[in-house]
Amino acid sequence: MRHGMRGLVSALLLLFPIATVAQTSKVTSVQKVAEGIWMAQTSQGSNVGWFLVGDEVVAVDAGSDAETGKAVLEKIQETAHKPVRYLIVTHAHGDHGGGAGAFAAAGAEVVCHENSAPGLAQIIAPSSRTKSGLMAFSERLALFGGARRVAVYFLGPAHSAGDIVVLLPEEKVLFSGDVALATGAPYMQSPDMDPEGWEKILGRLGQLDVDKVVPGHGALGTRKAIADTFASVKKINDVARILVQENVNENLIEARLRQPDIGIDAAVISPELIGNVRAVMRAQRAKPAPTPSPKPQKAPAGKKG
Ligand SMILES: [Zn+2]
Repeated sequence: MRHGMRGLVSALLLLFPIATVAQTSKVTSVQKVAEGIWMAQTSQGSNVGWFLVGDEVVAVDAGSDAETGKAVLEKIQETAHKPVRYLIVTHAHGDHGGGAGAFAAAGAEVVCHENSAPGLAQIIAPSSRTKSGLMAFSERLALFGGARRVAVYFLGPAHSAGDIVVLLPEEKVLFSGDVALATGAPYMQSPDMDPEGWEKILGRLGQLDVDKVVPGHGALGTRKAIADTFASVKKINDVARILVQENVNENLIEARLRQPDIGIDAAVISPELIGNVRAVMRAQRAKPAPTPSPKPQKAPAGKKG
């Protein structure tokens, strides 16, 4: 008995600090963006935002898993001191929606775009084939509470088929999901990514009156995040178009990118950039040409460029 108790105490001593560290390190930083508005960075790399709307909280994204979701909920309680009424998930990728179940269990309504609903349902409950418990919208959604106005927009497929952004127009804060990032390169390799749509959407977001951008990954940004991401996406789209026109083999993408006329600094050529160009080339090749080819004759098969 005594021995057993000592064993238990040792086990608790061993477990307790580890459990505490694991729990707190799921959220690596919490930052106040403006009055009543916060963002957190998580150990898996994705960000979560939240803000007060009247006497309730609206959260944007949930982290990658239930443990992260729970850790974020604790931070929300510590900062906003109010329950979460809505969780808006910017798109159906696991690192943004994986923690949604924890929010739902805490009483939050999960909101997403209708294109994201099937994927998000799978992320929340992998065995489920239903979309039950999700509130999905098609174009825009407005929330009001106290003095705060919230505008949620779907502008078309971009980083994924169902990206939404959340705008607080009075505070000029935009939660951009993975559509605009302040640091790091945009990820253009999701199978439902739309490179042309993404470029157009960033052009439209650039017209918004925004001071701060809370991105889906990395540091808090300014409106420059939108312009920078636009420049990155446009450059990759333009380069991919050239490579498609030249019929460059996928194995030769890197070699072609290293030629000076392409205009990419060799120092930034990374497996991720090459992957992005490859994915955009595939998307462009899969899309029918916007105008019929003016050439009367077919190009000979096996033509190289
Ligand atoms: Zn994503």
